[in-house]
Amino acid sequence: MSNKSQVRVRFAPSPTGDLHVGNIRTALFDWAYARHTGGKLIFRIEDTDTERVTDQYIKAAIDTLKWLGLNWDEGPEVGGDFGPYLQSQRLDIYAEWAQKFLDQGDAYHCYCTSEELEERRQIQMKNNKAPGYDGKCRQLSPTQVDEYKLAGRKPVIRMRMPTGETTFVDLIRGEVKFEHEFVPDFVLARADGSPLYTLAVAVDDVLMKITHVLRGEDLLSSTPRQIRVYQAMGVEVKDYPLFAHLPFVMGQDNAKLSKRNGEVSIAWYREQGFLPEAICNYLALLGWSPGDDKENISMQELVNLFTVERVNSSPARFDMKKLEAINGDKIRALTLEKFMEWSLPFLLESKVISGTQDELAVIKSALPIIQERIIKLSEIPAMLNFLFVKDFSIAPDEVSKVTDEVSQMVLITTLSKLEGLNNWNTKEIESVLRAVLIDEMGLKPRVAFSAVRIAITGSHISPPLFESLELLGKERSIQRIKAAISK
Ligand code: GLU
Repeated sequence: MSNKSQVRVRFAPSPTGDLHVGNIRTALFDWAYARHTGGKLIFRIEDTDTERVTDQYIKAAIDTLKWLGLNWDEGPEVGGDFGPYLQSQRLDIYAEWAQKFLDQGDAYHCYCTSEELEERRQIQMKNNKAPGYDGKCRQLSPTQVDEYKLAGRKPVIRMRMPTGETTFVDLIRGEVKFEHEFVPDFVLARADGSPLYTLAVAVDDVLMKITHVLRGEDLLSSTPRQIRVYQAMGVEVKDYPLFAHLPFVMGQDNAKLSKRNGEVSIAWYREQGFLPEAICNYLALLGWSPGDDKENISMQELVNLFTVERVNSSPARFDMKKLEAINGDKIRALTLEKFMEWSLPFLLESKVISGTQDELAVIKSALPIIQERIIKLSEIPAMLNFLFVKDFSIAPDEVSKVTDEVSQMVLITTLSKLEGLNNWNTKEIESVLRAVLIDEMGLKPRVAFSAVRIAITGSHISPPLFESLELLGKERSIQRIKAAISK
């Protein structure tokens, strides 16, 4: 691990649910750092918590990274020299190290029951002492051990924290110091032998020759424990990975971003129709800046510009409006082919189309007229539904907007003009309708066109009107206007 010129950085989620915004921001920074330095990204699944991690979440995590375009060099599906990359497949390795720590005297068996620990914790709290393991089993005599065993107690393995402190230089925060008074002896393995996160993560970072750990600030306080494990493994200080703890992602209310104050699950953003490049672009700016006010950056620019020095140590505030604005920009920047590719799943899923060649042709001509108007792909089905719906009807809450006197007059006039129109195209439609409704009748555009829009699309939210009329075709447009008149 001493050769830090070859960067090996890892993303190591515990998939106990769908990856959330914070995980993705970490993954993105890990990826950008690996790509910027020409190093390797190692993707490791920390699935030792078998009760909470499921195969489905592991699959989802892999799928999400792929969807985002965050490719990895070692890990699930691609393998690598330091595998397996699922911690559940490395249990023997952790057990061996835990045993070694016991043999060396760095760790010891602890027989305290959870009730006993809780009772003592309460007393510590009452006496204004930092709660934590008090070292009761550090020096058990053979007789005490025998008694515990006879009583049927099964021990956990605890790491012995020496007195003193741990200091390390965080690449974002500078020097960080932890007094061991506040880092009590911690559990490495449960009574059933299963490893805890602190053991597995540290062992793997060493064995996988990780040089840099970029991860969320919530893990800052685990660092002295992990360093303790490196020491017990006999790793030299110069070979410890370098740490960089990324600032928290906060909600608008300044509390840590959670389900309560924002949408955290990446699956939600995907369903809503955010593009991966928009998510990556926006998350890149959460706690990092390219050095100017630039807000629209590509993945390539991120790779070129990313340095840990430019990561801010203060918390970043998640701003949905900003993400939406970036998403709109990224959608507008898509080629028609790409836009079509992204849109089709939404149209198929919502059953607006079934995917016939005729439908695809209509979609292809319709997409350019809505590309400027949407901020999320999930808006597309409702916008284009009017072109495909068999039993067309106006949305119930919009009906009253076509039945008033002015609207009816507009519709009757529109009908007569459109019936006589031979060249059914956007330009002609616009010019006859403007001439009669605006110039002759003196209506305001909003008043003039709103009823027509609702009559033909069923809603006042729709693609641009004249283009919509052209796409819908003369026959169907006339039919719908007639139907709205008889209302
Ligand atoms: N598996 C840990 C988590 O998802 C992160 C491990 C690490 O980055 O050190 O919280």
